[in-house]
Amino acid sequence: ISVTDLVDASYKRISEVEDKVQAFLALNEEQARQQARLLDEKLGNVDEYGLLFGLPIGVKDNIVTKGLRTTAGSKILANFDPIYDATVVQKLQQAESITIGKLNMDEFAMGSSNENSGFQATRNPWNLEYVPGGSSGGSAASVAAGEVLFSLGSDTGGSIRQPAAYCGVVGLKPTYGRVSRYGLIAFASSLDQIGPITRSVEDNAYLLQAISGWDRMDSTSPNVEVPDYLSALTGDIQGLRIAVPKEYLGEGVSEEVRQSVLAALKVLEGLGATWDEVSLPHSKYALAAYYLLSSSEASANLARFDGVRYGVRSDNASSLIEMYKQTRSEGFGDEVKRRIMLGTFALSSGYYDAYYKKAQQVRTLIKQDFENIFASYDVIVGPTAPTTAFKLGEKVADPLTMYVNDILTIPINLAGVPAISVPCGFGANGMPLGLQIIGKHFDEANVYRTAHAFE
Ligand code: GLN
Repeated sequence: ISVTDLVDASYKRISEVEDKVQAFLALNEEQARQQARLLDEKLGNVDEYGLLFGLPIGVKDNIVTKGLRTTAGSKILANFDPIYDATVVQKLQQAESITIGKLNMDEFAMGSSNENSGFQATRNPWNLEYVPGGSSGGSAASVAAGEVLFSLGSDTGGSIRQPAAYCGVVGLKPTYGRVSRYGLIAFASSLDQIGPITRSVEDNAYLLQAISGWDRMDSTSPNVEVPDYLSALTGDIQGLRIAVPKEYLGEGVSEEVRQSVLAALKVLEGLGATWDEVSLPHSKYALAAYYLLSSSEASANLARFDGVRYGVRSDNASSLIEMYKQTRSEGFGDEVKRRIMLGTFALSSGYYDAYYKKAQQVRTLIKQDFENIFASYDVIVGPTAPTTAFKLGEKVADPLTMYVNDILTIPINLAGVPAISVPCGFGANGMPLGLQIIGKHFDEANVYRTAHAFE
């Protein structure tokens, strides 16, 4: 099989299913085929191949790709062609994978269903009436539909893990700092992480291996060693100590989700692990703290979209101030505006101490909850989301019910630790369920070990 065959297969599948799934915002076909021809010339003629040699990959549309349209799902960037590649994209090139196209997402990664995209609503390949989750809905759906072998997503409060769970694929949010954010269009910089979405845990480990590591272009990227994740995939979890937070199986979590986690724990026990119920007492404040902090950071990060430096400019204005206003009014969707207003309010003088500072203090308490548990346990296990995927249109009218969907993924971003979602059976509606496995800082290896043994 040649690289050209692989790339052909990917575009063929896209032409078959894309009118239904609608995962892609842009295709990179000409470039990809040219790259495939170059790699095919190498086949059999070189001693070493890149880690992902010839493999078709999709990239979430908030990761900048040189010369390839990058919109972050927003109309305000509808005409934006970046002049450089994100560090992860450079690393994919070094690994010799092939970028097939850019994947749909909720606008600026704000959302849990892909319905906040400024362009289209991606569907769940398991049942087209259901959402794929979000914000990396296009990334999860494209892998589940077989359009690409794997994809990159980003996760600020669950946006890799929740769509992975809803689409029955594997998604990892790495430790904060493990993967460079250089070239990731920022939503909430202290929470954002890029990570892999794949069919299997093994594929996931390969992709993380390729994109991990210190980057001088990202000041939050620490110079820590990247271990060999693949060597952790032994199948051996004898003696593994698992903590199961009671808050993760309590109120708001559906009975079928609870049962699927208990069944998964039985499987892990059968493999030689032990588990105890524990408590993360501050997790009930995580949602409120997250929406305050992330919206505050977003209000600052999104100030740069003013019609001058990037993207679209409104031509319905007669003065500079009016141009800013018109551009932002026309370019941003409702959810983005809601968050900018919330964040601007929370950061305004006189309110800062009451809201932003309080939320930061809560964040520290949540982080300490995790540290306390990890003093005596190797991993934490629970569900990824409180239910299976919901139907398109079911939650759009009420942003708060949409936010509540993130209660199980958000604390992990606040603490900065790594977590994976792996498929864990199906709900009564026939939609996939996800099991979430959370690890210590920079201990993706044990997360993968556990996920691989379970899978
Ligand atoms: N659904 C959450 C939000 O809307 C998480 C988004 C994300 O992780 N990017 O903020």
